[in-house]
Amino acid sequence: MKAELIAVGTEILTGQIVNTNAQFLSEKFAQIGMDVFYHIAVGDNEERLLKVLKTASKRSDLIVLCGGLGPTEDDLTKQTLAKFLGRPLIFDPDAMDKLDRFFASRPDYVRTSNNDRQAQIIDGSQPLPNVTGLAVGGYLDVDGVTYIVLPGPPSELKPMVNQELIPLLDTTGQKLYSRVLRFFGIGESQLVTLLSDLIAKQSDPTIAPYAKTGEVTLRLSTKARDPQKADEKLTKLEEEILNHGQLRNLMYGYGDDNSLAKLVFDLLSARQETISAAESLTAGLFQATIADFPGASAVLEGGFVTYSPQQKAQLLQLDKEQLARQGVVSASTACDMAEQARAIVGSDYGIALTGVAGPEHLEGHPAGTVFIGLATREFSKAYPVNIGGRSRQDIRHIACLHAFNLMRQTLLNDGNLV
Ligand code: ATP
Ligand code: MG
Repeated sequence: MKAELIAVGTEILTGQIVNTNAQFLSEKFAQIGMDVFYHIAVGDNEERLLKVLKTASKRSDLIVLCGGLGPTEDDLTKQTLAKFLGRPLIFDPDAMDKLDRFFASRPDYVRTSNNDRQAQIIDGSQPLPNVTGLAVGGYLDVDGVTYIVLPGPPSELKPMVNQELIPLLDTTGQKLYSRVLRFFGIGESQLVTLLSDLIAKQSDPTIAPYAKTGEVTLRLSTKARDPQKADEKLTKLEEEILNHGQLRNLMYGYGDDNSLAKLVFDLLSARQETISAAESLTAGLFQATIADFPGASAVLEGGFVTYSPQQKAQLLQLDKEQLARQGVVSASTACDMAEQARAIVGSDYGIALTGVAGPEHLEGHPAGTVFIGLATREFSKAYPVNIGGRSRQDIRHIACLHAFNLMRQTLLNDGNLV
């Protein structure tokens, strides 16, 4: 079943309103497993709408028109569709009744013949009642194509879709089920190349890669009658995916919102352990990210923003000369910062981030050179990371992701450094 959404309204084309109805309808259709292949927007113009309908009727099984059901002259959606299908408009008695009651209760409103147009449907349509407005919607099958007309205002369209349209369309009982796999440490193109065979032959479930700054997700989707059936299919495909290269190690979680930081936060909370940080190039970003989670105080005791070499020495009680000898962008300094942050605060773990956010070089290192220090109560270690070719913002953000990933690996290794 191929669906096409046609939003009618010049305001959409001029940018005065955003076509949120298309987004809402697409989301609803996805939930019932209906494929939406086209989003069209066309002005309040009979000739152009007729052209759009001609194209749509050839390539789609379900055509949804929204907007232009009102009483004004530029509202011409039903009239144009009636012309296109060669069918007359008739009055829906229930919608007419609603109009009568509305105007009887509002004697201050003048009723014109234009108002009555809102109660019209194309002959043969099943009316879709409008609980929050006066313009009736319609559902009509002609020559194997289903035409649906809906009002433009979202406050009228949404209840009509939820209460009238979806129950009519969702006859198969199939729904769309998705599973999102989250990866860190591999780029989108690398991931897609690794899975190219699988992606090429895969049709059910489908695989959709999506790249965010420093992270990649794969959305696996399938239509099924019940969640167990969907789960079986999704698990089978997930296993096939994870058998490629290092992907099993690079996948860290599931879902749209489960970030690396959240995972680390949950692991620390479960272990009732605490963390502190000394941040140079990220200037507090790592700690602020943890502080986003409710209950952060049980995990994040405190920490340091030590941007300049002087403040690294002063706040972290490091030896100035030794710092100068080592350089601030170095593995040794990252270790020292992590150890001192942990020791001064008295937390279970200390994280340090030092490096070059760019665009300028620092101490001869190019932008993107980052050292992450990690200290436990027993050991400390520095991890060099290279985040080249990125903007200053991205480098700082990705540096934090690396720090969270190292913490994740450490915690999954029962608190021992990896
Ligand atoms: P009315 O009876 O209010 O005239 P209508 O069915 O004729 O309703 P339109 O005239 O096309 O619909 O649009 C009315 C209002 O509904 C617009 O001003 C806008 O606020 C909203 N609207 C219309 N189309 C969309 C859309 N595609 N997405 C979001 N909002 C929309
Ligand atoms: Mg209108």
